[in-house]
Amino acid sequence: MKDDNCIFCKIANGAIPSATLYEDEDFRVILDLNPASKGHALILPKEHYRNLFDLDDALAAKVLVLAKKMTCKLKEILRCDGYNIVQNNEEEAGQTVFHFHMHMIPRYKGDKVGLGWHMEQLKEEDKEEILSKVK
Ligand code: AMP
Ligand code: ZN
Repeated sequence: MKDDNCIFCKIANGAIPSATLYEDEDFRVILDLNPASKGHALILPKEHYRNLFDLDDALAAKVLVLAKKMTCKLKEILRCDGYNIVQNNEEEAGQTVFHFHMHMIPRYKGDKVGLGWHMEQLKEEDKEEILSKVK
């Protein structure tokens, strides 16, 4: 399924040109237009899924295999020191384009990429509540 109003559907399916690093029947991998670091790339499925919550299971399994393949290859080309895989779901989590995509962000020693969060102590009541509800 494609969404006529979705820019990533158009990019993934070649209707809008992009800096394509890789393509197969399911995915296109492109350079991000506003990179957090040199080589920041996105994996886009060719079918439209809003985000992880509705992503097809078979594609979900394939996307991490592709992320592994791409980062292993790109880290040799870019000579980066590490990689972050980031995937945002819904506006509150930083999603701005509502077509599933996975960020692959190369990391370089001393770079200024601003990923991270303030870490707190796990609360006993949160732990008990979550563990009791999840099973
Ligand atoms: P997110 O905030 O996780 O939804 O990420 C959206 C990403 O898409 C951002 O990093 C944008 O820079 C990138 N982006 C938006 N439009 C384009 C485009 N036309 N080509 C390439 N990257 C894009
Ligand atoms: Zn789409």
